[in-house]
Amino acid sequence: MASEAPVEGGRAESEIIEQALAGADPNVLRIALYQATGNPLLAALQVQRVAVRDGAGVELALSGPDAQLVRLLAADFLRQRSEWSPPELPSREEQRELVRLFAGRELDPDELSMSLEELAFEGFSRAVDWSSERPAEADSFHVLIVGAGISGLTVGIQLARLGIPFTIVERQAGIGGTWHRNRYPDIRVDTPCTGYQFKFVKDFRWSEYFPGRCEVAEYLSKIARDHGVAQRIRFGRELVSAEWGAAEGMWTALVRDTNEVPEQVTANVIITACGLFNAARFPDVPGLSDFAGQIIHPTLWEDGTDVGGKRVAVIGNGSTGVQIMPRLAEIALNVTVYQRTPSWIRPRPLYGKKIPKAANWLLDNMPYYWNWEVCGTFLGGDSKLNSEALKYDPEWQAKGGIISKQNDALRDWLTSYINRKLAARPELIPAVLPTYAPLGRRMVVDNGWYDALLSDNVELVPYGINRFTERGIISQDGVEREFDVVVSATGYSVKQYLWPASFTGRDGVRLTESWAEQGPRAYLGITVPGFPNLFIMYGPNGQPRAGNFHSWAEIISRYISQGIVSLIETRMKSLEVRPEVFRSYNKQLDEAFKDIIWRTESANGYFAVEEGKGAVSMPWEHYEYYSMVRELDFDDFAVT
Ligand code: NAP
Repeated sequence: MASEAPVEGGRAESEIIEQALAGADPNVLRIALYQATGNPLLAALQVQRVAVRDGAGVELALSGPDAQLVRLLAADFLRQRSEWSPPELPSREEQRELVRLFAGRELDPDELSMSLEELAFEGFSRAVDWSSERPAEADSFHVLIVGAGISGLTVGIQLARLGIPFTIVERQAGIGGTWHRNRYPDIRVDTPCTGYQFKFVKDFRWSEYFPGRCEVAEYLSKIARDHGVAQRIRFGRELVSAEWGAAEGMWTALVRDTNEVPEQVTANVIITACGLFNAARFPDVPGLSDFAGQIIHPTLWEDGTDVGGKRVAVIGNGSTGVQIMPRLAEIALNVTVYQRTPSWIRPRPLYGKKIPKAANWLLDNMPYYWNWEVCGTFLGGDSKLNSEALKYDPEWQAKGGIISKQNDALRDWLTSYINRKLAARPELIPAVLPTYAPLGRRMVVDNGWYDALLSDNVELVPYGINRFTERGIISQDGVEREFDVVVSATGYSVKQYLWPASFTGRDGVRLTESWAEQGPRAYLGITVPGFPNLFIMYGPNGQPRAGNFHSWAEIISRYISQGIVSLIETRMKSLEVRPEVFRSYNKQLDEAFKDIIWRTESANGYFAVEEGKGAVSMPWEHYEYYSMVRELDFDDFAVT
């Protein structure tokens, strides 16, 4: 909202306006200004889809003269903003028209609906409400949420709004899940902060484009406090097991504190939000206990760990290994990188950079800029392109292409980046160039990894490891190297969903038994037959192909909360997904995976296809999935 008066003196204010507009996204500015002023000139400007990154990406852009015109009009507006009074919020129809103008194209109805939620003019755009008054029965209802990371907090916020009693058990001592636990050097978000935030909090101003761990943890703690969730968290408590009691329609859970003291908790509903990356995985090779030095998984990195002057090995070059290695190379005596499979590593020009004061000033002073900027990360960026790049294109392949036009363009762009980065040591290029397709695994962000490879104190060993010895590591080339510290950036056992808790559902069936034959499966990634009133956030195949993490947490929270509200309003005991609905969904899921490159291009990464399906992600277009989870369909459930 506009300030009452300029915050700084006249000259200082002109300067900040100038800086803010120079750094603004012209199309975001155009539409925000159009919404604020209704100036038809702005609506008439044409947005173009401009290829960037050698055709591997697109951006929504205005022509140079149009961008200049928008800046001039915006400067006038900002100078006189104290005289401005906000118009009424646009109607749904007007919002649709604004989105169309912004994107410069007609949107698929689901994509449009998701965009309107991203804009979030209403405040809490994914709120669930009671059909009429909050029923008194809500007082005696109890929901147990497992985990105080992004997912657990999001669903907690929905329940707090509705006045539904809940408890969050969190095994750590603080809020934030992965952002509380991981403390390794240079840890930060590797997607832009504009997307990595809730849509119902519009006044938080980030200090970096890709914020560091502390800032993300502070953000989550603040939001948990502001939205009535923090006081419901019981820290240092881990869910051990839970058993469904059909007669009472209740779960009986066993929770253990850090002193191993058990406690029984009953709940009508359990929502597990314990994340995908929580079970640290160490290399499955002999000799781990023989090693006399220190072995650290980044997840277990403790504040104060000092590798200064030490001989350090980094095993792995996924997102974690690539993020941590360059910083270690700055401090350690030397660093040896064990790379079993090369990763596709992309540049991010604003990575590690501070957000200028003027950019945050614009968010505070230009009405609606925040909303359109956020919506732009969803619509304007590469989500759709990346989604297309995940599919084989038989026609393109018949003409000699590798995967698809989009995927091959991405490969070319990333390959030329590697060539540029390692021009001084071309002999390294074949070793780091992946042979599988980009996006076959999660894309890794360059934190100066290639630059660090050029340092005198860094050695790349392009092999996996055979075994640990007392002094160090023998790699697959048979060479032993000696180390003081081994950093095992070897990822997580991602398929240990809900680890380490065990669930016993209806008729005494254990979840592990249900999943024994075909691996972890769920309906929509959320519910499993035989386990009434159990909801999983970020469950099996619950990772959408595109869209922002917080948005999905909001969407899944809405779906689950709709179920809970209806249980309370109808005074029913349980919701359990029908087996035939679950089977049909999973059949379609397996079928859809046939078109997706993870079938052949995952090189054993955790996206790889096993048991006929990918391990963690889903094959649907993100807006197709959105249409499935926008509203809970009660016909999918047996209600008792
Ligand atoms: P990861 O992607 O699973 O990578 C594990 C790495 O360890 C791979 O390079 C793997 O090699 C290697 N490895 C595993 N076992 C090995 C062995 N026995 N010998 C040699 N190498 C071995 O795990 P991650 O890097 O921890 O990332 C996991 C996920 O966490 C990411 O995909 C991302 O979603 C998230 N993350 C996010 C951020 C962020 O946003 N800032 C940062 C870090 C992580 P192979 O490829 O040969 O198996």
